[in-house]
Amino acid sequence: MKEQNIKIDLATTKKQKPAADQLVFGKQFTDHMFVADYTEGKGWHDKRIVPYEPITLDPSAMIFHYGQTVFEGLKAYMGQDGSIRLFRPEKNMERLNKSSNRLSMPKVDEALALEALKKLITIDKDWIPNAEGTSLYIRPFMISTESNLSVSPSKKYRFMIILSPVGAYYKEGINPVKILVENEYIRAVAGGTGTAKTAGNYAASLKAQEEADQKGFSQVLWLDGVEKKFVEEVGSMNIFFKINGEIVTPALNGSILEGVTRNSIIQVLKHWGMRVKERKISMKEVQEAHHNGQLEEAFGTGTAAVISPIGELNWEGEEMVVNEGKTGEISKKLYETLTGIQLGKLEDPFDWVVELPKESSVK
Ligand SMILES: *Cc1c(COP(=O)(O)O)cnc(C)c1O
Repeated sequence: MKEQNIKIDLATTKKQKPAADQLVFGKQFTDHMFVADYTEGKGWHDKRIVPYEPITLDPSAMIFHYGQTVFEGLKAYMGQDGSIRLFRPEKNMERLNKSSNRLSMPKVDEALALEALKKLITIDKDWIPNAEGTSLYIRPFMISTESNLSVSPSKKYRFMIILSPVGAYYKEGINPVKILVENEYIRAVAGGTGTAKTAGNYAASLKAQEEADQKGFSQVLWLDGVEKKFVEEVGSMNIFFKINGEIVTPALNGSILEGVTRNSIIQVLKHWGMRVKERKISMKEVQEAHHNGQLEEAFGTGTAAVISPIGELNWEGEEMVVNEGKTGEISKKLYETLTGIQLGKLEDPFDWVVELPKESSVK
């Protein structure tokens, strides 16, 4: 993308940046945001980087009524060497388009969206925290903006990117979590919107999460929506098990969201020469493996935590403690490898890291 025509309007007053120990996930935002508008027949227009501020929408804007919206989540890391790194950001833009296709929303130009993102980060680079484990969370998203209460795809959309400095996910070291296997509510079914990163999936998951929380669990493990037998995801993360020396993760089946972290972990494990299987896995099989002493590790994977080890699974009242409630060897090694690559501390044999040019070219 040479000619991207992004208009830049810099903030005249800058906000105070939070101290490293005051970072709260998703509550503080940088000085600028990227905005682009879409009108049917005209395409994307008015691409701009402007001061971060509230937006105004008509109360009849379709997003409020029929929920056409998609989002992404990724991070920028400030390395010890002062370099800013992104981790496979093109995968997020690609997924954004897959999600928007499912929601009958327009495509963004992936290369242009990435250029816009890099430009925005460069402008707000002083916001990237550099303490151990901290990062700049990036939230690209699209909403339907046409004023119209009739049920149909909107003819107008807005695409935005906002940035939020975030603290370390693990402040006191990696802690395995307690998980409740959810038998009543379901997250998604094949044919639905489970493979899209869209608000409705999250709205539908809150009830289960709330109830699990009250019972003292961190997250729920989602089963398939048809038979409620097969493992799908854990909270808003993908899930992996180590059973008798082999790594198993549910195969993508039309209701599971394909995580960039999931994809990366499969590649890293294969690179290490480990056996990895993407296949159907039932809760019964997990239970039997536990009874036989073969359930060696279990962990969730996603951008926020990278790896979240599971210390206990509760299924229909049965408590299954995994690896004595401690972080497993593979979980730890994967965490160190992925975060090492993301921070530029380890070699990147996969060419995943996108380094931003050191000198700001923004005037
Ligand atoms: C975002 C998300 C994930 C994890 O995806 P990453 O790209 O690894 O962050 C997993 N499951 C659901 C439902 C998600 O929304």
